[in-house]
Amino acid sequence: MEELNNRESEIFKNTLEKQNKFITERLKNIRNKYLDDDFIVAPQKKENIIRHLNNGIAANLIQTFFNYKTDTCIFCKGVKGENGIRQIERAHCNNYCRSDILELAVAEISDKLYGGETVTAGEILKKFIEKHDCCPIYMLCNKCHNTYDKK
Ligand SMILES: [Zn+2]
Repeated sequence: MEELNNRESEIFKNTLEKQNKFITERLKNIRNKYLDDDFIVAPQKKENIIRHLNNGIAANLIQTFFNYKTDTCIFCKGVKGENGIRQIERAHCNNYCRSDILELAVAEISDKLYGGETVTAGEILKKFIEKHDCCPIYMLCNKCHNTYDKK
């Protein structure tokens, strides 16, 4: 399943291209309690911010934001309900873990944050979504997902 991590593979490039369009369109009009969170983040060690957001918030946001609906595995083309496929699941590309992407997001607002400007949690989380432009989220069946996560 190396192609899922290979930036040059068709599945990687195609998934990312569709995903980037999805992100742009969905950010235009989504109402979401995480993205709309106006809690002001105090300047502090970026590790603290990442730990706070990675404790459920970022994972929940991914679940609600990338609300893809499909019955077919993008990798094996297996269909839900057949051959032991119970469900189709979101699988984050293994090149980055969630905290890596959060780190990219915090780095992008660090001039504002440490320069005395107001930064909200929602603003960081919006960056977090946008920073998935390097990291495809694949819709895999539970069997492929299991295999992928063991690599
Ligand atoms: Zn599959």
